[in-house]
Amino acid sequence: MKELGLAPRWRLRAKSKEVDPLPPTQTVANTTAEMAPALSLDERTTQIMRMDWPQLKESVAGCVACPLHQGRNKTVFGVGDEHASWLFVGEGPGAEEDLKGEPFVGQAGKLLDNMLAAIKLKRGKDVYIANIVKCRPPGNRTPESLEAAQCEPYLHRQIELIKPKLIVALGKVAAVNLLQREASIASLRGKVHEYRGTPLIVTYHPAYLLRNLPGKAEAWVDLCFAVDTMQGLKNTLAAAT
Ligand code: URA
Repeated sequence: MKELGLAPRWRLRAKSKEVDPLPPTQTVANTTAEMAPALSLDERTTQIMRMDWPQLKESVAGCVACPLHQGRNKTVFGVGDEHASWLFVGEGPGAEEDLKGEPFVGQAGKLLDNMLAAIKLKRGKDVYIANIVKCRPPGNRTPESLEAAQCEPYLHRQIELIKPKLIVALGKVAAVNLLQREASIASLRGKVHEYRGTPLIVTYHPAYLLRNLPGKAEAWVDLCFAVDTMQGLKNTLAAAT
């Protein structure tokens, strides 16, 4: 696949529970900073699950719920079509994402864009991109479980609002945090899992693929599987209506 540095060119094979938003007169704490000192994770989660998009964005921008806020330049909320069928979830912002406030803008992001192009998708067009954590872990280390747990309600609420048909977990960190169980990426690939009722498939993280050319061929298999899975989901939905 030219886009992924593979030849020959890849080709496509033939063929939760919703919580009512707050009424306009009712206010929530504007930022998690306001909530954080007083609220438990459960209480924060309850608040976050009632937020609309503007409230959620504002809350993330001011979040101090875990130590990652201390080293960040910008929070990285997520980007794309807020009604996307496809949701791609990575691990956490790197240095460039932290400066720009947008996910996957570095080298790994370029490869992700190429992976999307290979299956005729485009960032922002029926595609949303987010991460497990919204602040950069120092030195790009893996997010710790407490950090991921504090951030999870935000991603959970984003998923409730987007209602994607399919989630693609990019790499093991995204997969194990979304699925809430330890497993190898090899054991997770090629199967349809679920995140709170939404179908989820697993492929390699683009940063891993930058270092592992053979992984790109496997990622292509995963992307074809994702396209087939999406088609199946759309067919099932069409048959039901
Ligand atoms: N890696 C990720 O997992 N997410 C980003 O946003 C950038 C790099």
